[in-house]
Amino acid sequence: MERISWDQYFMAQSHLLALRSTCTRLMVGATIVRDKRIIAGGYNGSVSGSVHCIDEGCFVIDGHCVRTVHAEANALLQCAKFGVPTENADIYVTHFPCLQCCKQLIQSGINTVYYAEDYKNHEYAVELFKEAGVETKKVELDYLAVDTNYKAKNDFIKSLFNKMESLQSDKQEFAELKKEAETLFKL
Ligand SMILES: [Zn+2]
Ligand SMILES: [Zn+2]
Repeated sequence: MERISWDQYFMAQSHLLALRSTCTRLMVGATIVRDKRIIAGGYNGSVSGSVHCIDEGCFVIDGHCVRTVHAEANALLQCAKFGVPTENADIYVTHFPCLQCCKQLIQSGINTVYYAEDYKNHEYAVELFKEAGVETKKVELDYLAVDTNYKAKNDFIKSLFNKMESLQSDKQEFAELKKEAETLFKL
């Protein structure tokens, strides 16, 4: 049994939250952490009780969907709603924060921003984070870390390929399938 790392655990939580997003433009999830405890979470969505982009389509002005509250903002606002301090907390986000979220995170006293994917990383946001002393660290989600069956799956795929090789299947087809499996299962 291998224990999941803190980084992977919090990043996985953000990816889970992203699946609740209601804006079809981008599925984003954010988890705020203090002292290795999850204190809030958020995803891209409209204000509570309003219509969702997934039902009504996005409300686009100047190329941006104006209906949604961003995941990072939603997580911070959850803290505001329930009176939870965010000073010296960290945030795990599926995508690099936009300029607006960047400013909000700095103002909330967030220490470190862990993000899984680069996303139109705004030069000014990068500069503001640096100026404020907020660290940004890329932590990609390792899907295998959250898959409790990955060892069994890997063994199965490997044995399948060994069998195929011994059956002398079409060389080209075999190579293609093997490459796909290696990418998918990180063999
Ligand atoms: Zn939208
Ligand atoms: Zn944002």
